[in-house]
Amino acid sequence: MTHTSFDDTRSALSAARALERAHEAAVDWLERVPGRRIPARADVGGTQARLGLALPIDPQPPAEVIDALVDAVGPGLMASQSPRFFGWVMGGTLPAALAADWLVSAWDQNAGMREVTTGVVAAEDLAGRWLCDLLGVDGDVGFTTGATMANLTCLAAARTRVLQDAGWDLAERGLAGGPPIRFIAGAERHGSVDLAARLLGLGAARLIDADAQGRIRPDLLDRDLEEGSGPAIVVLQAGNIHSGAFDAFTECIRAAHRAGAWVHIDGAFGLWAAAGRTSRSLMAGAEDADSWATDAHKTLNVPYDCGVAIVRDRASLRATMGTHASYLTHTSSAEADPHERVPEMSRRARGVPVWAALRSLGSAGVADLIDRLTRSAAHLAEGVAALPGLEVLNDVVFTQVCVAAATDEATRALGDALRAEGVAFASSSEWHGRAVLRFSVSNAGTDDAAVEETLSALTRAAAGIR
Ligand SMILES: *Cc1c(COP(=O)(O)O)cnc(C)c1O
Repeated sequence: MTHTSFDDTRSALSAARALERAHEAAVDWLERVPGRRIPARADVGGTQARLGLALPIDPQPPAEVIDALVDAVGPGLMASQSPRFFGWVMGGTLPAALAADWLVSAWDQNAGMREVTTGVVAAEDLAGRWLCDLLGVDGDVGFTTGATMANLTCLAAARTRVLQDAGWDLAERGLAGGPPIRFIAGAERHGSVDLAARLLGLGAARLIDADAQGRIRPDLLDRDLEEGSGPAIVVLQAGNIHSGAFDAFTECIRAAHRAGAWVHIDGAFGLWAAAGRTSRSLMAGAEDADSWATDAHKTLNVPYDCGVAIVRDRASLRATMGTHASYLTHTSSAEADPHERVPEMSRRARGVPVWAALRSLGSAGVADLIDRLTRSAAHLAEGVAALPGLEVLNDVVFTQVCVAAATDEATRALGDALRAEGVAFASSSEWHGRAVLRFSVSNAGTDDAAVEETLSALTRAAAGIR
C-alpha cells in the first residue's frame, strides 16, 4: 500500500475516489448475492490476517483503504440478503432505503435537534407519521438501533408513568424505596424484554404461561393482575420468534387496563402484520396498547440498523428521555426534539431510510410486501409438510415456520446439511423441548421461485442425512 499525506486522507477528491470504489464494490456485491453460497466462507482470524493486524504508521490513500477492506472482508460476508435466506429474523435491503442510508452518512447530520438539522428531522417526522398510519398505532416515534433499544425506550417511559400514577417521582427519587412494579410478560417473551427489565431495575418478569403457539394465556394474565395491586407493566407480543403467533390483544389489554397497567407490545417483526391485507386481523386490538416496539431492519427491509419505539403518552416519553442543557438548542414547538424520544442525544438520521423505503413502496407496496412474506411462509410450510419425514410444528399464521425431522439429532443434522450446501439458509433452535429448524420469511425478494428452490435444497439435505 502506498503512503499519502494527512491532507489527502480528508480531501473532497479523496472522498469522491473512495466513494467510487465503495459504489463499485456495493453494486458488485448486490449483483452477486442471489447466486452466492450464503454462509460466510472465512473466519474472523483469517479475515483479520488479510486485513493486517498492525495499525499502519503512515496515512494511506482512502480509496486503497476501501479496496483493502473489500478484498479482505468479502469472503467473510454472509449473503443474508439472498431471497433464500431465512435465518434468525433478518430482512434484506430495499434499493431506495440503501441509497438513502448512504446519503445519511454523506450528509453526516446529527439528528437530535429539531430546529438545527431541519432537513433530516422533517423526513424522519414524516416517516414516523406514515409508520403510525400503516401500523394502526398512535404516539411519538423514536428511531433506535433496533427493537432491543425500542423495547427499552418504551419500558422506560412506562416505568416513569406507572410510578407517577402511584405518586412516586422517579426522576427525583430514583427506584430505591419506591413502590414495587409488577413487571409481567408471557413465558415466550423475547430475551430483549428481560434485558430491558435488567437495565431498568424492574427485576425478573413475572412469567405467565403460554399456550401451544406461545401466546400468553389471557385467563392466567387476568388472574395474576387481579391477585396483585400497585403499579404494573404488561408486555405482550406481536410475532413469536418460533411460531409467529400473536397474543390475544383485545382480551389481554382489557384485563391489563382494568388493573391500571401500562401495556407494551414487542412487535419487532410482527407489528407489520397490521400493514398486510391478509394478516391485518392478527393485530386486532393492538391499537389500544400504550407503547409498541418494532424494527425497520427486519420486515421493512431497511439496512441495519433501525428500530422504532412508539409511545402514546408523549409526556412520559419526553420526561424519561429528554435532557435539558444550556448549550443545546431546544425546540419551541409542541413536538418533542428527536433526542427526547430515544436514549441517544447524538445519532445518525436512521429514520431517513425508513422514509425512502415507504416512499418507494407506497402504501400498496407495503401491503404487497407483507402479503408476499405471509404467502411465501404458507407456501414453504405446505411444501415442507409434503416432504417425507419432515413436519411443521407451528400454526403458520405469519412469517415463521418451524420444521422438525423424526428425531432431534436428525433435525440438527438437517440444518447443518442445508447450511453446508449454502443454497438456502435457516437457523437451528429449540422450541417446546424439541430441536427445530427455523425459517423466518423476512426478505422482500423471497418469491415462489425462491421457495421452490429452498424446498429442493431441503430435499437434498434430507436425502443426504438419511
Ligand atoms: C429481533 C427481535 C427483537 C430484538 O430486535 P433487535 O433489532 O435485534 O434489537 C425483539 N423482539 C423480537 C420479537 C424480535 O424478533
